Amino acid sequence: MKTTGKIRRSAEQFVAGIAAGDRVVLSQAITLIESSLPADQQLAGDVLEKILPVSGKALRIGITGVPGVGKSTFIEAFGEYVVAQGKKLAVLTIDPTSQLSKGSILGDKTRMETLSRNPNAFIRPSASGNALGGVAHKTREAMLLCEAAGFDVILIETVGVGQSEVAVKNMVDFFLLLMLAGAGDELQGIKKGIMEMADGLVITKADGDNIQHATSAQAEYQHALHLFAPPSSGWYPQVLVSSAKDRTGLEAIWQMVLTFEEKTKASGFFDTTRRQQNIAWFQSCFQELLQEDIQKTLNTENLRLEQAITGHTLSSRQAAYKLLAAYHNAIRMK
Ligand code: GDP
Repeated sequence: MKTTGKIRRSAEQFVAGIAAGDRVVLSQAITLIESSLPADQQLAGDVLEKILPVSGKALRIGITGVPGVGKSTFIEAFGEYVVAQGKKLAVLTIDPTSQLSKGSILGDKTRMETLSRNPNAFIRPSASGNALGGVAHKTREAMLLCEAAGFDVILIETVGVGQSEVAVKNMVDFFLLLMLAGAGDELQGIKKGIMEMADGLVITKADGDNIQHATSAQAEYQHALHLFAPPSSGWYPQVLVSSAKDRTGLEAIWQMVLTFEEKTKASGFFDTTRRQQNIAWFQSCFQELLQEDIQKTLNTENLRLEQAITGHTLSSRQAAYKLLAAYHNAIRMK
């Protein structure tokens, strides 16, 4: 796990640097929240508390799609378009694959090279960690830091292979799903549940011979989405086509996101969702802390009971009750 090394700033220095839009300080602050050292966590908590009043102002967009759909190429093109509209853009990633193996799908440094050189863009690869929940928390906190540093739009990218989409959906305002034309849902590994979470779908690589395929896929997916239950946001997801290579469709996608923002802000859905996300985040942080505490406190008792289960001297259910009693006991002694 990374530590913050020699960087020792006070919470106030971090906050001042972030507020001034200093990227070096912003990067160091993100490294700080990613650190697992107790002293760093304490300082990170102080920084987050101090920046909270100035965070929350960005438009948060989640982007997902299977490997090869064109996420990084799209983010590069779309990101540049958004920056050209006078916005400051931060791109964060949640890559569950980086925890499983050294070869992460999204972590490659050469991705989004042009965008990363743009002075109004900031790109930060995935935090590392053992559990998706922990990584998602860190990304969420990194997002708050980017907002405090004055970024207007935050893109959170994740690879569409499983649980991480839910984590991203729970921290963004607009969730965009990238799809390939003609590959078939099964082939793309996209589950119906992920399509249902999307506020917008984009058929990628709509260029050359593929334009026709992309347009038919657009009609098919638009039809498929109509079969879902009406969304609680009151917003019906749109399906658009784009070529990142030819830079087409980008304006329509940006307009879709802005229309969504305008409509959901007017209906109150936008703010309600943000509030619910904050509450869910609080609960999930608590679960994580509790889990850590339980593990630390009950390590030996846990092993003893596991052995008893394996040795058939205790039922699993009885063992669970015993473990809970042991935990209550340990808490009383603390
Ligand atoms: P990711 O794995 O989802 O991030 O996908 P990439 O952005 O790395 O793209 C995967 C492949 O598709 C690469 O070979 C890209 O050059 C290609 N690709 C991406 N966008 C486009 C596009 O708009 N048009 C075409 N023709 N190819 C594209």
